[in-house]
Amino acid sequence: MSYPKLIANKKKLLHNVTTMKKKMTDAGLKTLAGVTKGFSAYPEVAEIFVEGGVDYIADSRVLNLKKLKDLPKKKWLLRIPMMSELEDVLEYADISQHSEYKVLEKLNELAGEKGVTHDIILMVDLGDLREGYFYEDDFFANVEKVLKLENLNFIGIGVNLTCYGAVIPTPEVLGRLDDYKNEIKERFDHDLEIISGGNSSTVYLVGEEDLGSINNLRLGEALLLGTESAYGQNLEYMEQGTWRMEAEIVELKEKPSVPTAKELGRDAFGRIPVFEDRGIRKRAIIGIGKQDVDIEDIKPVDEGIIILGSSSDHTILDITDAKNELEVGDIIPFNVNYGAMLKLSTSPYVTVEVEED
Ligand SMILES: *Cc1c(COP(=O)(O)O)cnc(C)c1O
Repeated sequence: MSYPKLIANKKKLLHNVTTMKKKMTDAGLKTLAGVTKGFSAYPEVAEIFVEGGVDYIADSRVLNLKKLKDLPKKKWLLRIPMMSELEDVLEYADISQHSEYKVLEKLNELAGEKGVTHDIILMVDLGDLREGYFYEDDFFANVEKVLKLENLNFIGIGVNLTCYGAVIPTPEVLGRLDDYKNEIKERFDHDLEIISGGNSSTVYLVGEEDLGSINNLRLGEALLLGTESAYGQNLEYMEQGTWRMEAEIVELKEKPSVPTAKELGRDAFGRIPVFEDRGIRKRAIIGIGKQDVDIEDIKPVDEGIIILGSSSDHTILDITDAKNELEVGDIIPFNVNYGAMLKLSTSPYVTVEVEED
């Protein structure tokens, strides 16, 4: 088996998905969309989402949904689509999120040519200033036009928060979704099936506050890492440490901790490095680099190991105070955050694996 590896623990992940699904159900939330982009939609991992009871499989990228086309759940496209990918949206997504009429008009036309209908969710911007209709007038004017597009079903509204503007979802902020929903009913006599109340930053409210008409959440981080993203806290009912990275030692030698030449230039990325003189240290190089992961996003499981730095393909560790005696060929495990998972799973040089227990 080749290294480096990104490893998912099935038992913990399954616990997280089933626990969250139950918690949402108990709180009156009807559906959970499991977001697969954090692990680049590896099918083996996405299957755990299905086994755990997610209602939809959601991803930002159409290519990721394509990888999962055989999973027996509806596919939901999270990133508002590019005009240039609409054929694929119809092919690989059952539902997609939108905020541009020009795109919807084209999608409707293509759906007509293909002889299919497609479900859409309109995004409203409640202040985070990423995607969505910001002004109510603009939103309702578009709803009126969208309802006339005969090949598209307007099934829901959604919001995304704490992504760009770091807006915290509070019951007050989210309450505007109720207003939107009610006004759509009043003005157009149109019922919505999905009121999607956000991502892992909304999780802290589930079971704690009345979420009004919200009946769906789209969750990645909370399921994958057991954390919520409004305040960055661990969710005590979920498992953390669901994922780890493993890399292999390719060189192990004692060396000084400060470069020995008189004249120092720039490192491989044009930066002037700074060194702390800790004397002669035992150092290990592992076979992974900046192309695969940022060292700020990984943490050795053995707290005695220090990450000194990395270049494209090498990462240098100080293992002088490591708990175990290490040698070339040994495997070093690391804890990872969301950013690390995202990059590691994207790198074709990293093997993604599922361990049962
Ligand atoms: C990524 C994404 C999510 C999931 O976010 P998490 O914080 O990982 O739960 C939900 N909705 C949209 C629109 C996204 O882009």
